Amino acid sequence: MTASENSVRLPERPFPGLDVSGARILVTGFGISGYAIVDQTLQRGAHVTAVDASRSEANLEKAKILETLGARILLGEEHTRALPKNSDGCPFDVVVTSPGWRPDHPLLVAAKDAGIEIWSEIELARRMQKADGPAWLAVTGTNGKTTVVTMLESILQSAGLRAVAAGNVGLPLIEAVLDPEGFEAIALELSSFQLHWTENLGAHSSAILNIGADHLDWHGGMEQYARAKAKVYAGTCHACLYNKADERTLRALEEADVVEGCRAIGVDLSAPGPSELGVVEDLLVDRAFCENRHSQAAEIASLGTVAHLGPHGAPPHVVLNALFAAGLARSFGVEPIHVREGLAAYRAGEHRSEIVYVEGGVAFVDDSKATNPDSAAAALSAAKSAVWIAGGDAKGADLHSLVAAHAERLKAVVLIGRDPAPFIAALDDHAPDVPRVWIDPDDCADNRALMGKAVAEAASRANDGDVVLLAPAAASIDQFAGYGERGDLFAEAARKLGSGA
Ligand code: ADP
Repeated sequence: MTASENSVRLPERPFPGLDVSGARILVTGFGISGYAIVDQTLQRGAHVTAVDASRSEANLEKAKILETLGARILLGEEHTRALPKNSDGCPFDVVVTSPGWRPDHPLLVAAKDAGIEIWSEIELARRMQKADGPAWLAVTGTNGKTTVVTMLESILQSAGLRAVAAGNVGLPLIEAVLDPEGFEAIALELSSFQLHWTENLGAHSSAILNIGADHLDWHGGMEQYARAKAKVYAGTCHACLYNKADERTLRALEEADVVEGCRAIGVDLSAPGPSELGVVEDLLVDRAFCENRHSQAAEIASLGTVAHLGPHGAPPHVVLNALFAAGLARSFGVEPIHVREGLAAYRAGEHRSEIVYVEGGVAFVDDSKATNPDSAAAALSAAKSAVWIAGGDAKGADLHSLVAAHAERLKAVVLIGRDPAPFIAALDDHAPDVPRVWIDPDDCADNRALMGKAVAEAASRANDGDVVLLAPAAASIDQFAGYGERGDLFAEAARKLGSGA
């Protein structure tokens, strides 16, 4: 349909305050965000059905609560095979899907074929938010999202703003947006899955930290993955931040449809030009949101402000994350002093370059969240000399360039994981002289024993000034319940060394 000649097509308001009362909504996936969607839309008079393949204890419990309020919750494989109908026999008006569901899921394909709109929780939240609701400061990227968003939350709160981290971390966005007391700003983490089903995000400001290969099976390839990431910029009003050292982020920005007057802001670790943030000597510097940016720059913080975020000061990727968080906050009018306070108060999140124990000048660093080569590279860059604990499910990723780039700083390597072959091949090619040992899971009673052995092996090879670094460059699912368990057992084993237990 095209607009007639004398009609003017007004852009859709980004936050129209959609009234969902009477709407027939199907929610696919009944995890944390699925539960929040059912709960919030039900409270506002929608007819809500949710489906999920899992009949876990937790799901059954949660279902009981919402069923008493009038929701219809269908749990079990059989409910996810085809598109259900609403309880009145009518088709659904909209499907709101959880990020875990792939776009080629038969139920979603059926919904699309039936002409039903499919939204992410983010899209639903955007439509339900009123025009005077909180500003969205949106962040995506392959690595560093949670760090930037939680840093940003700390900065916004230091500035006295009612602000919260939401989306892929923290509160479900729908709850943050509809909070009865009202937030002023949301530090919003978005995954590529959430962005896939989102249009015209309409953020106050937005950022892509980096784009590397990840989740390609879900999206169907690198191009589609990058396209999903690029959607974070759609409809941004004030500033779009990109990584000057990652051309893919700039390309995404060049193709984005933003609001007129929205500025492009480059971020990296070099001296910034106008409309950029960067580093000059030991200072984090803003030449984007200060007055007279053509001739002047504002000092935001010193590297000392973030020195507590690494064993030898903040590693480069953490400084970069701090610059992104600072830039987003500055775009919302936060003064440098509050940026400084927020960064000083920030503590590394669990399993993200977290120093869990120090003994005899050896720091034990838990970066269990390094589940792909890019994030492991960032963690390794922070260490001058590392005994590296790596391995797990490599997801078919190429480990050669990772090992080649960091061979110099490897003192020894302790491999975990069921299949060490991809790591051994890369070490043979690029670090043949670095001693390595594989902890055979069949020789260990359980995961605790396995990690205990790995840490003891690593500690025996580390001296004053070395780092024992868990940065596996691989997923944990071949051995552990998740990266959390892997990191927790590492920390436990490291602390046990000190207690002599
Ligand atoms: P995400 O939420 O995108 O998964 P996190 O902040 O949880 O990101 O960090 C995940 C992993 O990526 C950690 O191992 C961390 O050390 C690494 N990392 C953090 N920031 C960056 C960055 N800017 N570039 C590359 N790797 C990073």
